[in-house]
Amino acid sequence: MSGLILIVEDEKDLSTTLEYNLEREGYQTRAAYTGEEAIMLAQKSPYPDLILLDLMLPDIPGTEVCRRLRSIGETRHIPVVMATAKGEEIDRVVGFEVGADDYVPKPFSVRELILRIRAVLRRTQTLDLEAGVELTFGDLRVDPDAHQVWLGESEIVLTALEFKLLTTLLSRKGRVQSRKQLLDDVWGIQADVSTRTVDTHVKRLRHKLGSAGEYIETLRGVGYRFRPHTE
Ligand code: CA
Repeated sequence: MSGLILIVEDEKDLSTTLEYNLEREGYQTRAAYTGEEAIMLAQKSPYPDLILLDLMLPDIPGTEVCRRLRSIGETRHIPVVMATAKGEEIDRVVGFEVGADDYVPKPFSVRELILRIRAVLRRTQTLDLEAGVELTFGDLRVDPDAHQVWLGESEIVLTALEFKLLTTLLSRKGRVQSRKQLLDDVWGIQADVSTRTVDTHVKRLRHKLGSAGEYIETLRGVGYRFRPHTE
């Protein structure tokens, strides 16, 4: 599994160890050493797929960082795994209250942490995309097994690529996908196509989706996202 992880940890040694181990597992990493830096880096494209957030930071508490991430459009839907020192059991409750997706008590084994991260990413990246489970959003209905899409009662015929683009955006609804990220995930890293190809395909997909086309939003200069809610 791939993905960009933002590591928020003020202990430099631990941060370096985490970077090294996560990269060895195939993840990309970005490191922040303070809460303010974390909030800034989380809003930088390409957006992180997950934020590993230490609770005790030199400037602002991790819970506050999490709360602020949840109030910013671009970072609202990025999963957060919170790390905190042993004996701070109370913080676990606070962590979930401010919107953390998971929690690991320190000291953690790197191996355990990676398993947690992988589980959270699997949960968020493949949201509803399990075999046999139909995906619905407003009048739009997607059958991932049969590769079929309906708008109300009428079937929409998509190419395999358009279908993949739609399911990728839909399964990450509410989360901004940069053109580069879509190229990697839909076309594949080796594909010899430019980011303009993404725009062309999104345009065509929107057109085919008719009234549901507006569910795919353009974030100028950033990328695309599937609207988080029908309204
Ligand atoms: Ca710390």
